[in-house]
Formats: sequence, structure tokens, C-alpha cells
Amino acid sequence: MSLRVLVVEDNPVNLELVTEVLKQEGYQVLTAESAEAGIRLAAAERPDLILMDLQLPGMTGYEATRRLKAHPATAAIPVLALTASAMRGDERMAFEAGCDAYLTKPLNLPLFRDTLRRFFPSGAERGRTSRSEER
Ligand code: MN
Repeated sequence: MSLRVLVVEDNPVNLELVTEVLKQEGYQVLTAESAEAGIRLAAAERPDLILMDLQLPGMTGYEATRRLKAHPATAAIPVLALTASAMRGDERMAFEAGCDAYLTKPLNLPLFRDTLRRFFPSGAERGRTSRSEER
């Protein structure tokens, strides 16, 4: 039984790339293309990790993360923020919204894999993991 990762991403190319990498690493992948759909899916499925694009149409990833962290059903799920923006201050805003980690796009794949291992040091298989408390 593999750990499940929800990817909230509106860009189909990024969505496909991230999904492919996660599957190669052994994770099950759920996807949503809007913040609203992501929040619904997170509450219904309680994934083990959420990858959150911060730039989404309509509700932003920042607001979606605030809502996820404010809701008891989803508050404990770690959120890894992905942003195309390299502006200073973005990272601080992401952490203030409740994100647990932060990566910029285009995705650096070795760094992405390292970040996944920070959350799941034993890999994608359920029952052999411990979550990092570290931000
Ligand atoms: Mn986007």
C-alpha cells in the first residue's frame, strides 16, 4: 500500500511532470486542477501529502492552504508549495499560509526527490514512514 499524494496544479505540463515523478517514486497520485477541487478531494481522501501550486485560477494556493490548515480534517496533512514565481517574500508568504515546504518551478528534480524524502524518509510505502517535523 503506497502513500498518496494530492497534486493541485492548473498547468497540464507541470501536472504531468510531477505526477510522473511521484509515480516513479512509488506514490499513488491524486490530482486537482483548481483550489476548490483540491480542497474537496483533500477532505474526502485525506492524502499523505499535498503538492500545492500557489498560482491557481480563482482561489490561490495560499488561500487553499490556509483553508486546509484551518479545517480539522485536513490540518495535519503536510503541504509542499510549488511556485513559478521567484520573487522574494513568496516563501515567507507560503509559510505564513501554513505550507510545510516550498519549491520553485521549473522543478529541480533531485531537490524535489530530496524534499519528498524529508517527509517520507523510508519512501512511498505505507507503514515504513515517519514525517519530518522540520519546516
Ligand atoms: Mn498555476
